[in-house]
Amino acid sequence: MLSRKQLQRYSRQIMLPQVGEAGQQKLAGAKVMIVGLGGLGSPAALYLAAAGIGELHLVDGDRVELSNLQRQVLYKTNHRDKDKAQVAAQQLTAANPEIRIHAHSRMADAAWLQAQLPALGIDLVLDCTDNLEIRYVINRVCRALRVPVVMASVRGFSGQLVSFDFREAGGPCYACLFPPQQRDNDLPEVENCSTVGVIGPALGMMGSAQALEAIKLLVGLPLSSLNRLQLFEAERLEWRALALPVNGDCPVCATE
Ligand SMILES: [Zn+2]
Repeated sequence: MLSRKQLQRYSRQIMLPQVGEAGQQKLAGAKVMIVGLGGLGSPAALYLAAAGIGELHLVDGDRVELSNLQRQVLYKTNHRDKDKAQVAAQQLTAANPEIRIHAHSRMADAAWLQAQLPALGIDLVLDCTDNLEIRYVINRVCRALRVPVVMASVRGFSGQLVSFDFREAGGPCYACLFPPQQRDNDLPEVENCSTVGVIGPALGMMGSAQALEAIKLLVGLPLSSLNRLQLFEAERLEWRALALPVNGDCPVCATE
């Protein structure tokens, strides 16, 4: 049962037939891990906390830098040099003290994710990282443990969004889409915000889209990014979508 306070706080989404009290209860019972509390993780975490996700796990090993503030909207100027996961937890608690928020001040890796996803009972992972290596690790571990994942990335003015519901067998994974071998050849150097630049509001769009897809998945609505790569071009304000078939040569899918 939702309390009177919950009914009030979440009234504007509870009145939607797609959510209702039943949907709100699902959100309140959900445990979501957000890996990366930067330009994507900031808006995603703010919207998920505000929406009343019962338990949020925030994973980031970085400290706040001056150059983060152009896009990482969780942080203020006086947070410079502070631990991102800790500051993010404080900010989100201020936004919604009714939910449980846990800061994990560390980088995610395979062993940690393999142990923590089942131990914490995580229902959904948001990949908000800026690192391809970690993205492949999240993909592999979530697929093996059958935990759904919503991934996004932004380079310059171009955003990508894709979700995989690994609770259902037989679908594609991130490595089906971008085989690791091919990426190694394509990208001799590490490419991220610090090397190619990024426009802040495009991260806001994609991080908000991750929160949107997360809420839809948790309340049981269909996802437009499920097994579909959604591409957003911020310069033209255009979206297009590519359906993803299972790749028979995928090294991750071949291991099962
Ligand atoms: Zn695959």
